[in-house]
Amino acid sequence: MTRVLGIDLGGTGLRRGVVAVDGSVEDLRSVRHGGFSHPMEAVERIAAVVDEATAKHGPFDAVGLGVAAWVERGTGFVTRAPNLGWIDVPFGELLRRRLKMPVAVHNDLKAIAWGEYRFGAGAGASTLLVVFVGTGVGAAVVADGQLLLGGRGFGGEIGHVQVGPADGPTCGCGRRGCLEAYVGGHAMSRRAQELSLQGRISTLPEEADRREWTVSDLEDLSRRGDSEALALLEHGGTLLGRAIGSLVTFLNPDFVLMGGGVWDSSEYLRDAMRAALDGASHPDLRKSVHLAESALGTKAGVAGAADLARQILERPIG
Ligand SMILES: [Zn+2]
Repeated sequence: MTRVLGIDLGGTGLRRGVVAVDGSVEDLRSVRHGGFSHPMEAVERIAAVVDEATAKHGPFDAVGLGVAAWVERGTGFVTRAPNLGWIDVPFGELLRRRLKMPVAVHNDLKAIAWGEYRFGAGAGASTLLVVFVGTGVGAAVVADGQLLLGGRGFGGEIGHVQVGPADGPTCGCGRRGCLEAYVGGHAMSRRAQELSLQGRISTLPEEADRREWTVSDLEDLSRRGDSEALALLEHGGTLLGRAIGSLVTFLNPDFVLMGGGVWDSSEYLRDAMRAALDGASHPDLRKSVHLAESALGTKAGVAGAADLARQILERPIG
């Protein structure tokens, strides 16, 4: 039986777990890494994680990795990873050379979607759409048992779908009006800070000098009656719901699975999203969608990445 280690590499931390064929994750561990000054540092860190897991569990046949990045299909080449500060890094090749075993590198949302499809809330779906709202906004689609990769592997970048006007807020990608520039955690934090400086939003009394606003702060303020904080959450949720509603009409998914730190932190945002989704989807298609929450939680990315790596052991692909 093949033994595969699954790793979920984010902008500030990584998770790893030993994943069985049935998707069960043993010895799930989270480690903060705080970023890397060079991609080779990340490669060495991952090698140390694999060594440590090998010492404890025995040798692995492959490593599956999900990373918060734009990952080229087949090669694991990372063209951009804003949260890690990388551009054009042959990450898959560097890892394969260092670890001397098969390594499958995928975008983190694709690994999560695959994990939920194979072992979680999306099991049995004919078409599964997964959308995560965190610092950024990402999505992935599994249709007819296949992960939708897109021509180069970048399919699913819903965060950069244009939902605002040409003079809308600037996105991390440099363009204006992207969905992520309205509902991503980073964008909402920045907007809350601007409003606070203008005196248009209440300041949290106990944290008057804080630099980073969180979506939980905005949720708290909204509960206390701050209309600007509420408007920010509801506007973000509405644009999110409209974007997902368009995808529901276009793709006819039977499951839409939502998750992510921002999504989990704000009931106002979730309510606004659901209301907008109802209005933006074609009624016949909306009826057939089951709106679900992640079943595997933090294990999804690890389980999915490992399963995708197991596939290359069983059926080598180019
Ligand atoms: Zn963008």
